[in-house]
Amino acid sequence: VTATGREALRYGLQALRALGLRLTELAQMSPLSVATLKRHTRSLDPSLAAEGASLEKLSLQSKEALTLVWVHAIARGRPLAPPVPQRAFLDFFCSVCLTRSSRPSPSDGLVERDRTGGWPADLTEALVYGLQTCERGAGVCASAPARFAALLLALRVHPWEAYSFVIGEIAPQRWWVRTCLGCERDVVTEAASTRLCVPCRARSRRSTSHPMGAPGGPHLHRRSVTWT
Ligand SMILES: [Zn+2]
Ligand SMILES: [Zn+2]
Repeated sequence: VTATGREALRYGLQALRALGLRLTELAQMSPLSVATLKRHTRSLDPSLAAEGASLEKLSLQSKEALTLVWVHAIARGRPLAPPVPQRAFLDFFCSVCLTRSSRPSPSDGLVERDRTGGWPADLTEALVYGLQTCERGAGVCASAPARFAALLLALRVHPWEAYSFVIGEIAPQRWWVRTCLGCERDVVTEAASTRLCVPCRARSRRSTSHPMGAPGGPHLHRRSVTWT
């Protein structure tokens, strides 16, 4: 990781801490050690900390937004196998690092090679610098912390809730992009084995039962999203 990438990574990690993520929680989602994380998140932006205090619980809308971010921005519509078992969330929440084959060693994250980097002005800059580092093949994803923090701010949701939802309900195994065998459109389905979009499934069933799956309650898993 270059100095620029390192500072982008540190900026993102500090933002996540400022938004209310505990050190132990951050350690669970990062490939870096607790000691490393602690060292690099000592100073926190007070304005971000104020933002963190006003974040809210996950709504159905924010769950759908997180799902679409995963499918479109991170997975980029690619049918995916689970990347690497036990891979840390903040090392694959990135379209570049998602398909990186090897798991980095924890010490690989914040190695100092040069001192020409600059402290990012904001999350957007950290995200851009981090992504440039990812594209050069960093050992640890440099952009995911800033990306996740920016997403939390945009959706106004608590970091740990958003993380638990993404890990448990979306990435990397629950949602798949497939070509519907019936109409040949690209569809996002809840399982790799589902090869028909909702309308085609309903048609093939030719039954009077509910074409959208079980009625009532949240249907995030039972609904397919289509686009052209
Ligand atoms: Zn990355
Ligand atoms: Zn179809």
